[in-house]
Amino acid sequence: CGIVGYIGFRESQPILIEGLKKLEYRGYDSAGIAVQTERGLEVTKTVGRLANLENRLSGSPLLGSVGIGHTRWATHGKPSDVNSHPHTDNTMKFSVVHNGIIENYLELKEELVQAGHKFLSETDTEVISHLISVEYDGDIVKAVQRAVKKMRGAFALGVLTEYEPDRLVAVRYASPLIIGIGDGEKYIASDIPAILEHTRDIYILNDGEMAVLSRDGIELMTIEGNPIAKEVFRVDWDL
Ligand code: GLU
Repeated sequence: CGIVGYIGFRESQPILIEGLKKLEYRGYDSAGIAVQTERGLEVTKTVGRLANLENRLSGSPLLGSVGIGHTRWATHGKPSDVNSHPHTDNTMKFSVVHNGIIENYLELKEELVQAGHKFLSETDTEVISHLISVEYDGDIVKAVQRAVKKMRGAFALGVLTEYEPDRLVAVRYASPLIIGIGDGEKYIASDIPAILEHTRDIYILNDGEMAVLSRDGIELMTIEGNPIAKEVFRVDWDL
């Protein structure tokens, strides 16, 4: 339902939480974040309001300057802690937030289960993190491209891997996603209000496009890996 992501030099947790609050008007049943911390890629997620998530984080904040966050509107699997996003794979090295629906998730899940994967949730989304882990051989961009090729449906994705803590990968296919451009800071969001207090310069991804964010740059390409050029869109309105 709602996606926010950040890579920069400030603490990511407050930016993710505040961004998700700006998307609350869309409705949601659960929320979560994943952050690249000193201990690795860590996830905190919970069913219910963002206040529940904030409560849980208040005792043990996730510290780090790269993270992704999600508010979920359940389509596959009831609202619950385990069904909340972000979702991980069995190695816990990959983390995914997803808006939309993976139509062929059952057949993908079956193949993965036969290959020994253990699924924790009932969501369609969890197949994505498993697929990316299977496809990974040292380059998260290629892994995401290969995984996405196997998926049918609608998806806006934010992807992190512990192996490449200075990159955030975003994909859009039939579900909206924008990229926010800052100085030494970059953002992703499913809608402009989530990041408007940080930047007015954005890229609007079209279907079949993806972005690879680092602190100092954004690579734009198609899902097939062909580089694309895009004009910066300047947001001239206020909330
Ligand atoms: N289909 C996914 C799920 O049920 C994502 C739903 C959403 O867009 O929030 O978990």
